[in-house]
Amino acid sequence: MLKEFRADLHVHTVLSPCGSLDMSPARIISEARQKHIDILAITDHNSTRQCRVVMELGRKAGITVWGGAEINTREEVHCLAFFEQETALEEFQQWLDRWLVKIKNKSGYFGDQVWVDAKDNILGEEEWLLIAALDRTIDQSYEEVHRLGGVFAPAHIDRKSNSLNSQLGFVPPDIRADALEISPSATLELVRMNGWNKIKPLIAGSDAHQPERLGLNMTQLKMKNTSLGEFKKALIEVDGRSVIPERLQETPGCQ
Ligand SMILES: [Zn+2]
Ligand SMILES: [Zn+2]
Repeated sequence: MLKEFRADLHVHTVLSPCGSLDMSPARIISEARQKHIDILAITDHNSTRQCRVVMELGRKAGITVWGGAEINTREEVHCLAFFEQETALEEFQQWLDRWLVKIKNKSGYFGDQVWVDAKDNILGEEEWLLIAALDRTIDQSYEEVHRLGGVFAPAHIDRKSNSLNSQLGFVPPDIRADALEISPSATLELVRMNGWNKIKPLIAGSDAHQPERLGLNMTQLKMKNTSLGEFKKALIEVDGRSVIPERLQETPGCQ
């Protein structure tokens, strides 16, 4: 039987240099509970190091947390990657460590890059600037995410920076991806005008860097359970499963 789930598929934590220090795993999970969010994807810039603690807390609270990252490719295009297995996350982290262009973080300028435990104690600090680019193309990144069984989606395609649109001038109709993410400001009209809905399934995330923004842009998923395998099936609409950004749902007009 299919059920409906609400997902925020683009969430930063305290680890992102631009992420608020309030975005600790404990705060994210309590905020998600209050907002009745069923699924969260943790997507810090070029790092998965805060995922494990959020996943653990999510399990205790009955919220599914997919680990992942928002990678910055060689083209300076942000792309989301989601994984379910911790072993895949670990392998993906090694790939990120290998390909991140190494620029020292200046925390006073860019912000802190720490990851914390369930009680907000600092566990570690990333020394390399996480918003730098990886020395890997969009295509190479897609291949690595797929090799590890993950889901790959270019981020905020409608945004004027770090998007397919801003870096390549358009969304290539033959882009290798499982989905395309739209930002909180994308409208149904804009999506239709550009024909993005015809290229790949669309997903939405809040891109929250502060707790208040969590859940501001959600995706409604119709599937059997909250596993990543079900999400993959929903993206290709197997047996009635579906994926719809909430803000793109058509509201019935007056007759
Ligand atoms: Zn981004
Ligand atoms: Zn982001």
